[in-house]
Amino acid sequence: MENFKVLIDEKRLDQRIAEIAKEIENDYQGEEVVFCSVLKGAIFFTVDLMKKYNGLCEIQFVRVSSYEGENSTGTVTLKIPLKKENIENKNIILIEDIVDTGRTFNYLVDYVKELNPKSIKTCVLLDKKARRVVDFEADYVAFDIDDLFVVGYGLDYDEKYRNIPYVGYVQK
Ligand code: 5GP
Repeated sequence: MENFKVLIDEKRLDQRIAEIAKEIENDYQGEEVVFCSVLKGAIFFTVDLMKKYNGLCEIQFVRVSSYEGENSTGTVTLKIPLKKENIENKNIILIEDIVDTGRTFNYLVDYVKELNPKSIKTCVLLDKKARRVVDFEADYVAFDIDDLFVVGYGLDYDEKYRNIPYVGYVQK
């Protein structure tokens, strides 16, 4: 396995995710939420967030693709859709691994809105604000990061390295 530099270690991930879970708990005040995890990158984050969340919640999955290797193709395609009955009249929290250009989240928010949720918020582990192409700001952001290609903690490079327990990067 390649040697990656550590950007965010396991302890910082753990602490910050606990804070986000509390923030969400406070915002929803006992109302049920549906964590809508964007496959595959957000699974580690979603699971850890849910384990720290003390409230009624469900989990659903959606899958889109826009990246090949290190490059965004610019077009977002829906690969695994959501079912309307799982979204309609519910409080949806869309969970992504990283916001880069903003295209994926923009697409997903519009897509979820068509399914008539009661409310929709967005939650992201990593935010690369410098790379935005479309206007987008997530409601919950765990970490702002510089313009680096990151892997680990669910994030891949051509499907590999998702299993690294921290967020790392390759120094070019
Ligand atoms: P956006 O549509 O905001 O440009 O891109 C979001 C998607 O691009 C993320 O869900 C993720 O799959 C991929 N992505 C963006 N930046 C990175 C990165 O630094 N590392 C990895 N592994 N994926 C990234």
